[in-house]
Amino acid sequence: MAIWDGTSGTAVDPENISSGAPKCPECSFFLVSDQEHFSYVCRKCGAIYDRDTLIRTGSFAAGKGTEVPESYIPFKISREEAIGIFTEHCRSLGGLPKIYGSAKTLSDMTGAYVPFWLVSSEVEVNAKGIGFTGKQTNTLYNSNPAEDGVVRQETYGTAKFRLKDIPYDGEKSIPDRIMASAEPFDLSELKEYSPDELKDIPAQKYDVVPVDMTDVIFRRLDKYAMQVISKVDFGFDQFIPYQDQCLTSYRNLSVRYVLLPVWILTLEYDGIRYTYIINGQTGKLSGDFPESKQERSEQKERRSAQNALKRDLIIRILMVLVPWIIILVIIGIIGPERITMFFGYHPLEFILALVSAILAGVLIFHFVPKLFLKKTRKDYRNFYETMKKPVPASEPDAGVYFDTGFPLRAYETDIKFNSLETGWKYRETNLSDIIKNIEAPEED
Ligand SMILES: [Zn+2]
Repeated sequence: MAIWDGTSGTAVDPENISSGAPKCPECSFFLVSDQEHFSYVCRKCGAIYDRDTLIRTGSFAAGKGTEVPESYIPFKISREEAIGIFTEHCRSLGGLPKIYGSAKTLSDMTGAYVPFWLVSSEVEVNAKGIGFTGKQTNTLYNSNPAEDGVVRQETYGTAKFRLKDIPYDGEKSIPDRIMASAEPFDLSELKEYSPDELKDIPAQKYDVVPVDMTDVIFRRLDKYAMQVISKVDFGFDQFIPYQDQCLTSYRNLSVRYVLLPVWILTLEYDGIRYTYIINGQTGKLSGDFPESKQERSEQKERRSAQNALKRDLIIRILMVLVPWIIILVIIGIIGPERITMFFGYHPLEFILALVSAILAGVLIFHFVPKLFLKKTRKDYRNFYETMKKPVPASEPDAGVYFDTGFPLRAYETDIKFNSLETGWKYRETNLSDIIKNIEAPEED
């Protein structure tokens, strides 16, 4: 396992490793193993250790005793503005239930400084994937690779970078997804915490600490790590990592405790509780809305379009069957005996008639249905195109939390991810491109 250059670490008495489940060198509490990230976590003091060496690699504990937030972002959006943003959005959706516009609902708009844990960490990804050299003319996985002049090569590489101040809310009552989609906050406006300045709007107390949400924290870090790694080209024209064969580890993981301003509105409709968040700094609104009238009528349209498609399909099948039916009817009318007699007297004419019948048959039974099939497929495709619904809002991409002050380094490695001195090295070049690419919407 590669170790960070110049990691400041505390060496540990090896006895701690040999006696079964190791204990935290700092507080003697039993350590919990995190296989996926090659680390041990102390659930009591929050310390994180490398699993092989028990060198301290970070901490889930926030500084300064954690009881007092380190800093906060002041509100920029007033309560009236928040209500305005919410009602304006409801109006643009149209046809929402009455409760959305009622004065009583809007009067529940509540401001709060919500506790957030800002997690920063250096990231090391040992990536396995395919490098592409040459211009891709067609799709990524060309059906005939020999033709397009693209060289594909399985390759190994390591990349190191840093993710900075990823917010995790320490508040259980608001769904994480909705809170995260009100991001980002401009953290350059963080001010040192002073209780006096926060007296108008209440500051909530956290009810979950980072050490109890390590799964949530690592899940988002891992997702961002893969987003970054898929933008690093590793010296190729393109590099596609195998998502399930990339190993990610974290160094110097640290947590800050801050308060961030949000407006919160909850309401109940049809037995479902809806929570809305308005970012108190940027005014960004997040939350799910019940189906509006417009959506319902769109659904109705979609259903009738689907029924029309079914009708068309039945008609087309009938059209394919009709010639068969006609032929069977004709044979029935003429009678099979007469056909045999006709063959006996006029064999040449019979053969000519037979050949033209076969040709007509091929045309009718082969090409026509094929055309119909093609048309039907196209109709269905168009139909499902229009069915696509916008993806629900979620947390921002990795580009927002990529630490530009930390040089991205990447180098070629062997199968065990040992650095290849003869291989290519990749430093700060194109860093801005990488960030730009992460921020650009993903093309699918
Ligand atoms: Zn501990």
